[in-house]
Amino acid sequence: MTDINQQATAYDDNNIFAKMLNGDIPCHKIYEDDKTLAFMDIMPQAEGHVLVIPKQKAVDLSDLEPEFAAAVLMTSQKVMQAQRKVFEREGIIQMQLNGAQAGQTVFHYHVHLIPTSIHELGRHAAVMADQEQLAKLAQQLASAITV
Ligand code: 5GP
Repeated sequence: MTDINQQATAYDDNNIFAKMLNGDIPCHKIYEDDKTLAFMDIMPQAEGHVLVIPKQKAVDLSDLEPEFAAAVLMTSQKVMQAQRKVFEREGIIQMQLNGAQAGQTVFHYHVHLIPTSIHELGRHAAVMADQEQLAKLAQQLASAITV
């Protein structure tokens, strides 16, 4: 019988988000505190797609510690408030995938915040964004965050 709490993948210290947290690869940062980092998704499913990650080695929801879960939600609220302001829209999708079977592609827990409607959501991790555009959006969102 399958254990419903089973974790299919062990945490890989070399995953792309771990490298971002170590400063080994760059990202278009929007917000950072002692427990979280928020940055632009490189293959957005809508303009202004942001990812929020904990500074904890969690593969998915199953191993996310409560204090980091709370911190991710608090940062997500800040980011969503900034997205609402910058894009002048109320509708923001909050999404989070657990396991390859669900479509998860980066195995460091993260929340997607996407300023669009479920009926207009673009393809997942499919099209690379223009880097200049991402940098501009990151700057706009970062300045709209009220701490
Ligand atoms: P997942 O499929 O794990 O839920 O989502 C992973 C997300 O990370 C995807 O939306 C994908 O576009 C994004 N992503 C993958 N590689 C990179 C990267 O190198 N930089 C950034 N900023 N986002 C990435």
